[in-house]
Amino acid sequence: MRDPTQSGPHRAKRSLGQNFLVDGNVQRRIVESLKPNLIDEVMEIGPGQGALTQHLAGRVRRLILVELDNNLAARLQEKYADTPGVEIIHEDVLRVPLERVSQDPRGLKVIGNIPYNITTPILFGLLERRPRPREIVVMIQREVADRILAPAGGKTYGALAVGIRSIATVERVLNVSREAFRPVPDVMSSVIRIVPMDPPPLTEADERTLRSLTRAAFGQRRKQFQRILRDRYGLSAEQVEEVAVETGMDLQSRPEQFEPQRFIDLARALHARGY
Ligand code: SAM
Repeated sequence: MRDPTQSGPHRAKRSLGQNFLVDGNVQRRIVESLKPNLIDEVMEIGPGQGALTQHLAGRVRRLILVELDNNLAARLQEKYADTPGVEIIHEDVLRVPLERVSQDPRGLKVIGNIPYNITTPILFGLLERRPRPREIVVMIQREVADRILAPAGGKTYGALAVGIRSIATVERVLNVSREAFRPVPDVMSSVIRIVPMDPPPLTEADERTLRSLTRAAFGQRRKQFQRILRDRYGLSAEQVEEVAVETGMDLQSRPEQFEPQRFIDLARALHARGY
């Protein structure tokens, strides 16, 4: 059998979202934004040919690389066999719970230039389950970063922004041009840093209500919030009024007018009424 670690250049697989970051300056800026240090445990999602890995290996206590591609995983295994603290999990990241990666997932830092076709499942996989990692630095499609960071009231503000910003703070670290990758992708990219709030602002049960509320709200974004509460949750007119007073919200407005924090208030008020 041919040894994958000895074969020539790797041929990028589109199906696995393989666009490799070749700009060394961008590689370094991404890694530095995680402020790696010798007590850290870091999980890297989709290390590929090691664009970020090379700047992290040896600088952190443990570096866990989660790579699905057979050929790339074998090459990483070979390359980092003698580097203390580096481990490779050759699997689909969506099937790797954080408890398997670390004994202390709450202290874990996550980094990755992730496959864009599974951005949402990766982010929600990390943020909806508990325990959550300490922070996440990821390269994603710029348009998705714009939606996550969109101000309330705008057209692109929606379930993604509320889902993430209600439980974490998010900042854009940098924008990255298409030319920084090989092969050159069709879309532009951004690096964002997500820090889950600690302690979490909502209980797990309140969070389930928040998710159902967000889905209902942005599934029907032309409707006033009070209509959604009546139609989706069966609230009476009096209950809607009570909730409006309790949360201080004008429920005649549309959901897109409200900041993520207001969705938290509303989810709490609904949950307290048994929803
Ligand atoms: N980090 C490298 C870089 O910056 O050049 C590679 C980035 S490339 C955009 C995405 C990487 O994720 C590829 O190496 C790909 O094989 C890997 N990948 C794709 N789907 C994956 C999955 N479900 N689980 C783990 N890794 C995956």
